Amino acid sequence: MSRIKRKGSKSNSGAPSWGTNLKYVKCDTCDNQVRASATAVKIICPSCVNKLVDPPSVSLPDPKPNMPKGWRNRKQYVHLDGSVYEYGVENIDLFGTIQPKPPKIVKPKPKQSLSKLPVAERSEARTRLLNELKFLRTELQRAANKTDQKKITNKITKVTKQLSTIKN
Ligand SMILES: [Zn+2]
Repeated sequence: MSRIKRKGSKSNSGAPSWGTNLKYVKCDTCDNQVRASATAVKIICPSCVNKLVDPPSVSLPDPKPNMPKGWRNRKQYVHLDGSVYEYGVENIDLFGTIQPKPPKIVKPKPKQSLSKLPVAERSEARTRLLNELKFLRTELQRAANKTDQKKITNKITKVTKQLSTIKN
């Protein structure tokens, strides 16, 4: 696990955005002490507010299965069952009037294994990878900062792995 570096100062350093004049006030309905501005007289703590307020209601209709990403944002989307949607709202008048487009099927490209290449191509690939490795090692020595060094080291690992898959 790499540690996440935060830019800027830590949130607990310096003055908070709401000012430094704070005091603790007892919640109006329970015993929680809540940090509040110096002028606050009465306060309800967050957990009491949660008890008072209903969770937000989500009124969006459930999408049908196989809806493509972003169908609600399209000017017109024709579902495979013939229903027509305009910006996510069904237009019942247009049902079945427009031919739906069949969904795009993206075939994954087959990955060619380097070990299955013909001999000549294999040796060519090996030379290419060795040259790349040489270049990357020089780059690594020149790298000015740790971020660049890490990037190059990752590339070296990748190339080394590829090299190891090529057998003589
Ligand atoms: Zn409370």
